[in-house]
Amino acid sequence: MQIELVKYPDVFLRSASNNVPFPLDDKTSRLIKFMAKAMYQHHGIGLAAIQVGYQLRMFVMDCSRSQESYKVFINPEIIEKSIETLRDNEGCLSAPGKTGDVRRHIRIILKYQDENGKEEKKTFYNLESRCIQHEMDHLEGKLCIDYEKGNYSRDKHKSQTMVESDFRVKSDT
Ligand SMILES: [Zn+2]
Repeated sequence: MQIELVKYPDVFLRSASNNVPFPLDDKTSRLIKFMAKAMYQHHGIGLAAIQVGYQLRMFVMDCSRSQESYKVFINPEIIEKSIETLRDNEGCLSAPGKTGDVRRHIRIILKYQDENGKEEKKTFYNLESRCIQHEMDHLEGKLCIDYEKGNYSRDKHKSQTMVESDFRVKSDT
């Protein structure tokens, strides 16, 4: 059975997600497996809870596309970003057929909790770093297609964790 994702322009995608309490309850554990299943089914490399209808600060990721080694990131927080950035074209499972040019930090350090509530701190590069920044945007109600000039209203979807550089829009169009 095909898992239905929340899709643009559904306003639900614009809501900010809430912290996940520990220990995880059964429902949340099942939700994580469900998210991984949805991600693989739709051939994505990352998927946030909001995309399957839950306002929870967590996402799954598997940039290897191996379909068996996904990681789950709960209550994630980017604690360091490289100065070096790279602009690339991004797609989103919640916005099929659309893409956005987004400038992302090449390297980030992410603090997060695993399924047992254990705090981890890891460095991610390149595609994984881009994917994490994309999923982190979902937790704040932001989409990669918003970065295209004029698509995003800062006042309408205010967030505390977004920094000025994340709002840099294409100026050459
Ligand atoms: Zn997305």
